Amino acid sequence: MKRIGVLTSGGDSPGMNAAVRAVVRTGVAKGLEVFGVRHGYQGMIDGEIAPMDARSVSGIINRGGTILHTARCMAFMEAEGRVRAAEQLARHGIEGLVVIGGDGSYRGAEALHAEHGVRCIGLPGTIDNDIGGTQYTIGFDTALNIAMEAVDRIRDTADSHDRLFFVEVMGRHSGFIAIMASIAGGAEEVLVPEEQCDVATIVARLQLAKSRGKTSMIVIIAEGDEQGNAFSVAKKVAEMSEFKDSRVSVVGHMQRGGSPTAFDRILASRMGVRAVEALIDGATGMMVGIENQEMVLNPLSSTWEKKSQFSPDLLRVSRLLAT
Ligand code: ADP
Repeated sequence: MKRIGVLTSGGDSPGMNAAVRAVVRTGVAKGLEVFGVRHGYQGMIDGEIAPMDARSVSGIINRGGTILHTARCMAFMEAEGRVRAAEQLARHGIEGLVVIGGDGSYRGAEALHAEHGVRCIGLPGTIDNDIGGTQYTIGFDTALNIAMEAVDRIRDTADSHDRLFFVEVMGRHSGFIAIMASIAGGAEEVLVPEEQCDVATIVARLQLAKSRGKTSMIVIIAEGDEQGNAFSVAKKVAEMSEFKDSRVSVVGHMQRGGSPTAFDRILASRMGVRAVEALIDGATGMMVGIENQEMVLNPLSSTWEKKSQFSPDLLRVSRLLAT
């Protein structure tokens, strides 16, 4: 194998650039030619493919987003779209790919390999940390730190006014950011999609906290909680209790941007190195993960067969320390 490609696909996450840099520089150091594919699978179909050298990834390890841009691509879901993508790769002589993205992107990679023999290695790039086969995904630590900082800032104003705040953080299908931010930010209550929780229970917990002398209170809500978004939870709590004058804050997309933390840069760098080495060793259909500090390879299929879940003990810790 002489030529490999690298792309970022699906949702962006901070640290993707560090991963691209690691893939390009490792490839160059090992004597490969590395091509960057812009705009994910859409760019692959459209032929947005260009060579990258070691200098082309200078000064990006500290930058959020992805210099390769990312996209969602309906055409790639169809066999016909993947034929066009494979033709473009063949035109450039690319035999192996590093796909930085989530489990949707891996399904695409698996299909590309099955139908056209392109070797693919995945790197987990998502802020949600819910991909099976790795303890951490690239971008989670950065997003968590932004959520925590938001909680800290809101605590200041909540304290000053003796107020109740509902803070919504990202996590459509996963409460990883919410539970970790609740512990790190000392929130009084946390709502996650992994746990059923009715409004009466939330109200009872807030009343208990108040009776213990708490004057300001913060409830963190993962955007995917079954009770709805932070605005609807605040409304339901107001209807059922004396907590009628609360405020709502949605942290939103700022959790996806900004300079990645040291943890994410190092994780992305190690994963990028391992991905290229795996391709050179002849691996395909695998994702690089981290388990017990070590880089490991797990089948791409493990990422959609089993989601990564946080330990339920974290909920116990969060609530115990909120007393
Ligand atoms: P993520 O990779 O972050 O999970 P998506 O689920 O949006 O993001 O997937 C990214 C892209 O991967 C999609 O836009 C599509 O082009 C491709 N993809 C997703 N699922 C499949 C599939 N089952 N078969 C082929 N391609 C897929």
